[in-house]
Amino acid sequence: MKLIAGNWKMNGAGADLAEVAALRASLDETPAACRVAICPPATLIQRMAAAQTGGPVEIGAQDCRAEASGAYTGDISASMLVDAGATLVILGHSERRQGYGETDLLVSAKAEAALAAGLSPIVCVGETLAQREAGDAVEVVRKQVVNSLPLALAGQAFAVAYEPVWAIGTGLTPTLEQIEEVHRAVRAAMIERLGLAVAAVPILYGGSVKPDNARDILAVPEVGGALVGGASLKAKDFLGIIRAA
Ligand code: PEP
Repeated sequence: MKLIAGNWKMNGAGADLAEVAALRASLDETPAACRVAICPPATLIQRMAAAQTGGPVEIGAQDCRAEASGAYTGDISASMLVDAGATLVILGHSERRQGYGETDLLVSAKAEAALAAGLSPIVCVGETLAQREAGDAVEVVRKQVVNSLPLALAGQAFAVAYEPVWAIGTGLTPTLEQIEEVHRAVRAAMIERLGLAVAAVPILYGGSVKPDNARDILAVPEVGGALVGGASLKAKDFLGIIRAA
């Protein structure tokens, strides 16, 4: 079953919870043929998780600290996210890799911590425009996958999201052939790292997924779902993508 996950980033003041209520009402009426998740800002996790208990929308976080506790001002541990009601966590998003210098090694440590706390990680990888133009996209992504996935993930529930940096929030997307090429390389790298047990782990595509391109992208071989930014903020758009899955 495909996974459609929304990444709200630093959006979603209280009023936007109405969008989740609308989403839930629609999914209660006509259940989705896929898994649906929303990753709101950390401050909204508890309220949203409580409102979704037993409902069709899984609630996730956008990051966590690798350490379990300690003097890390401003940070949140994986077990705190579990306490709040999260079941998933996005890790290694390019906005964190670029904005906070997060390395593959750190992302791997965070994934291990998330797993230990009972969260299912969504590990993000993706090339920059310069890397794609240099013909290095597949190799860059392969290395990110091998180095960002801890061995502890073997046999566990997790996902990898392929998000070309240049496609995030730009309205640009790779061709369907390019998406397939990288997704096949991601699968091979996952198997290289963790063995054949990862054959069914979903590889999400992320980067300017909208209701009007979702059906084609989700039909690409090895695309096991989508990580959606901007279009996850409005129930109508997000539902358009969910219905395409
Ligand atoms: C994202 O940031 O994970 C993302 C895919 O954003 P958008 O859908 O807005 O490109």
